[in-house]
Amino acid sequence: MLCAASCRSLEITPAALREKGGRAPERAVALARWEESIGLMNEFLASSCRRTLPEGRFALAGEGMTFTSASGQTWPIQVCATTWGDLVVAIGFRAQEGQCGFCVGATQLQPGEARDGLLDNTFFRHPQGFWEDAASLAEVTLHETTHVVLREGTIGPWNTLGYYLVLLTCWSGVEHPAERLPYATSAEFERFLAERAHGPAGAGLLSWRAR
Ligand SMILES: [Zn+2]
Repeated sequence: MLCAASCRSLEITPAALREKGGRAPERAVALARWEESIGLMNEFLASSCRRTLPEGRFALAGEGMTFTSASGQTWPIQVCATTWGDLVVAIGFRAQEGQCGFCVGATQLQPGEARDGLLDNTFFRHPQGFWEDAASLAEVTLHETTHVVLREGTIGPWNTLGYYLVLLTCWSGVEHPAERLPYATSAEFERFLAERAHGPAGAGLLSWRAR
């Protein structure tokens, strides 16, 4: 499609992170954080905060993530660092959904770091290089999974074209109609985190902060 053979596409998987090479100690930390995010997402999905996504569970195997709904349907949620992801990051987003998961882009390096494509991407790191925590990995995964499962946004070439045409008329991605359900999941997850940290009063704190 848009991508020629010269385009970069690197699938980020636990198996790849366990292979020899790259910055091995940091890969182990990143993988542990990814596993922690799976636990957080499953806790969220089992909670009363989940409303938009169907009931279900995430699993992380060597070849990557899957989401399986309570009715037994399974979606692969692949994470790929791609040239298209670099463009998405350049226009201010962290990730973009596709049929089988989402793509992310490259991040800046800290002084003295040698690039490790499996780590230096916007799944694990902020574009400026600091590390995202497990809650942040969970948030981006839940948001993009909402796009994939509910088929909202850039799922397929025509929807992708339509998405960007509409985006040109919106102030930001947040106001895009295809983002309504994914951002609902993001807000539900934020409420879950607040309640988890502070009890039911945490949700009150959140609505006060939102004003
Ligand atoms: Zn989105």
